[in-house]
Amino acid sequence: MSNERHPDLTGRVAAVTGGASGIGRATAVLFAKHGARVFVGDFSSLAENASLFTELGIRELQCDVRREADVQRLIDTAVAEAGRIDILVNNAGIGMVKQITEVTEADWSACLDTNLKGAFFASKHAVRHMQRTGGGVIINNASNAGLLPRAHDPVYSISKGALVALTKSLALCHAKDRIRVNCVCPGPVGGTRMMNRDLDAAVDREATAKQFIAASPLAAAFGRMIDPEEVAQAMLYLASDGAAMVTGTSIAIDGGKSLGVPPKVV
Ligand code: NAD
Repeated sequence: MSNERHPDLTGRVAAVTGGASGIGRATAVLFAKHGARVFVGDFSSLAENASLFTELGIRELQCDVRREADVQRLIDTAVAEAGRIDILVNNAGIGMVKQITEVTEADWSACLDTNLKGAFFASKHAVRHMQRTGGGVIINNASNAGLLPRAHDPVYSISKGALVALTKSLALCHAKDRIRVNCVCPGPVGGTRMMNRDLDAAVDREATAKQFIAASPLAAAFGRMIDPEEVAQAMLYLASDGAAMVTGTSIAIDGGKSLGVPPKVV
C-alpha cells in the first residue's frame, strides 16, 4: 500500500520564516500535509491563508527576521508549544534590483538583514535547542544568484552567496550535533510576491516574464517559470530522513540557470 505521507514528517516540529506567501507558504503547507507541526513566522499575515492554515494546524506568528528577538520568539514558541524544534527553514527574503551607484545604506541593511542576518540568528536559536534534543535540520532558501552572481542585483547576489557560505560553515560545525544544514537555490519562481513585484515594475510585463524564462534552459523548454511547490518538494526531501547523510549542499532548482550560458537559439 502506498504511503501518501512519504516522506513522513509525523512528530516533527518545523519553523518556516516568510511562510505567508510564495515558496515559504508552499513549504509550510507541504510539511504540514506530510505530518509536521508547522510554525510560520512572517511580518505579514494574509487573510487568504486563514482557513487552509487552520485546517492543517499551521500556527502563524508575527516575526520580523531582521530582529534577533523576533526569530528567537518564533523558535522558543515552537519549543514551548510543541516541545521541540526539528526543522528550521530560513526562507524569508527580499529582492534588491539596483546598481551599486544607486544603493543606499538603508537598502544594504534591508537586504542583508532580511536575507542573511535573519537566517543566522534563527539558526543560532534553533541550534541551541537541536543540540539539546540530539539533532535537527536547517534549510536555507538562497537563490541561483548565490551560485552565479548577477549583474543587475549586487546586494541581493552578495546576500545569497553569503547564505550559501553560512550553510557550509554551519554544516561543518554542527555535523557532530547531528544537525544537517543545506540550502536550495531556486529561480525563476512564478506566483510569488517577489516575482510579481519584479514584473509589476517592468516596462513590459510580458516581455520581462519571457526574459526570466529564457534565462533558465528548462523553464524555456517547458515555456513556464518554476512553481513554488517544486521548490517545496526539494525542501521536503532535505527535511526528511531520506537525506540523513546530506549536509552542506546547495540544490539548484533553477532549470539549469546557474550552469552557464545556454546554446544560442537560432
Ligand atoms: P514572496 O515575496 O512571495 O515571499 C517572501 C516572504 O517573506 C513574504 O511572505 C514576506 O512577507 C516575507 N518576509 C519578507 N521580509 C521579511 C521579514 N523581514 N521578516 C519576516 N518575513 C519577511 O517571495 P518568494 O519568492 O516566495 O521568496 C522566498 C525566498 O525565495 C526568498 O528568500 C527569495 O530570495 C527566494 N528566491 C525567490 C526566487 C523567485 O524567483 N521568486 C528565486 C530565488 C530565490
